[in-house]
Amino acid sequence: SKRGRLDRYLCTQLHTHRKAVRELLLSGRVCVDGLIVKDMDRQVDEFSHIQLDEHILQANAPVYVMLHKPIGVVSATKDTQHKTVIDLLDCEVRDELHIAGRLDLNSSGLLLLTNNSRWSDALMSPTHKVDKVYRVTLANPITEEYIAAFAAGMYFGFEDITTQPAKLVILADNVAEVTLHEGKYHQIKRMFGRFRNPVVGLHRLSIGDIVLDEKLAPGESRSLTAAEVASIR
Ligand code: URA
Repeated sequence: SKRGRLDRYLCTQLHTHRKAVRELLLSGRVCVDGLIVKDMDRQVDEFSHIQLDEHILQANAPVYVMLHKPIGVVSATKDTQHKTVIDLLDCEVRDELHIAGRLDLNSSGLLLLTNNSRWSDALMSPTHKVDKVYRVTLANPITEEYIAAFAAGMYFGFEDITTQPAKLVILADNVAEVTLHEGKYHQIKRMFGRFRNPVVGLHRLSIGDIVLDEKLAPGESRSLTAAEVASIR
């Protein structure tokens, strides 16, 4: 995301040179997030509130949305054939949002969207190991041997990777809850594919501590709470 020095930002915005900017700062005319800032090398980003006297130079709010993604809607910002998840949103800044962790066209459940790429980077970062929990419905019964295979990890020759340990809990004959720390391309479908057991339903229940709100019908969305936003860091 756009992070940089305050003096650089002011030079660009005010079409002036560093010496003039330094004077503005030293005379206490610049506020960042409501406080006077005098240091030239203060770091700011696109969400810093920046003010010169009573003139607001920048006031962008970060936006965080949870969507109950329906089946048949594509996790992309533009698509020529299908309706996109962006089309389902009604917030003003919807075209500035990006998806933090896609779901396949025929998958449903929790989808997170934001305009804050530092937040989504933390969410997606492999080192953070944020749990993603899915309820998976299979064409055929699931057996106990799946549990060990998911826990051990599976080798995918195409990308030359071994999946990280995943947890599988059998909920019913052909329904399982799967917890992943990562999200490789069609990962869950491919993992069950090893057992020649087709996935017929895939629904994401949670990402870290953020749980799909049961009040949201497919296609509905709401803003994240401050606690949900803060749970990812
Ligand atoms: N794994 C899949 O195969 N599809 C999804 O949408 C998410 C995880």
